[in-house]
Amino acid sequence: MTKKKRKLKKKALAIITVTLIIILLIPILFLNKNEPKTAKKESKKTNELGDIAKKIDFYKDDYTDRYLAYKKANPNLSNEKVIVNVNIGLDYPYYENVQKTKYLNTSYIIVNKYNSLDSDYVPSNMEKIDSSFSKGERLMVDYAQEAFEELARSALEEGYNIYAMSTYRSYEYQNSLYNNYVSLDGQDKADTYSARAGFSEHQTGLAADVCNKEQPYTEFENTKEFNWMQENAYKYGFILRYPKDKVEETGYMYEPWHYRYVGKEIAEYIHQKNITYEEYYVRFIESKKDINKD
Ligand SMILES: [Zn+2]
Repeated sequence: MTKKKRKLKKKALAIITVTLIIILLIPILFLNKNEPKTAKKESKKTNELGDIAKKIDFYKDDYTDRYLAYKKANPNLSNEKVIVNVNIGLDYPYYENVQKTKYLNTSYIIVNKYNSLDSDYVPSNMEKIDSSFSKGERLMVDYAQEAFEELARSALEEGYNIYAMSTYRSYEYQNSLYNNYVSLDGQDKADTYSARAGFSEHQTGLAADVCNKEQPYTEFENTKEFNWMQENAYKYGFILRYPKDKVEETGYMYEPWHYRYVGKEIAEYIHQKNITYEEYYVRFIESKKDINKD
């Protein structure tokens, strides 16, 4: 064999070896890529919502039809927002498809037009708010009451007067309040600003309607105290519960006077992300707790 021939033979062998390796590798790579798909068959419906749906940990398989119907009705919403809104319950009219709320006597309880409290629910460990920060005798769950006093004390030190004018309300009291509003304004109007009994956040002992004592609470938005609350309430664990730009999501008109205790960590997140408690709840409370339970 000449030197040239030997070189050519070497070259040919090398090419054959590389080709063989590639041929052998292709099916291995191909099979690996397909393994998850064959292991877990995805439904056609889930695919219609796109890849994002599969990655969202609060995606509920049994809600797939609801997600698709809501997406069809709201094509401009992202898939993630579709899932958030359906999990909140927004694909149903308010007060329909209601469930009894979970996590009673916790700071992360949700009460709204889809999550209700029993008529006999009274939160445990309520305390009176210091009379220098409240109008009349006002009760809140002890940790919320402490946080509220801390907030009001800090505000006062800076020259702002924050008073709790309505906090815990019993089922019976809410019922008479709501019925009064209905007789005054009719049910449709009353529903925009007053909760039906069993659906009021005030029954949790974690909500406070505030004022500056000089003006009625309905004028709170136009006070310097409101600006202070906008900047500081979250530092004490409180959120503005019914913001101006979230009326559909919360089911309530803008209420600049209504604050809800959720704890500092949650309040800071909601403040920074500008989301509703509804959205926070379906993203971080409901899904996580359900996983823990299952
Ligand atoms: Zn209120």
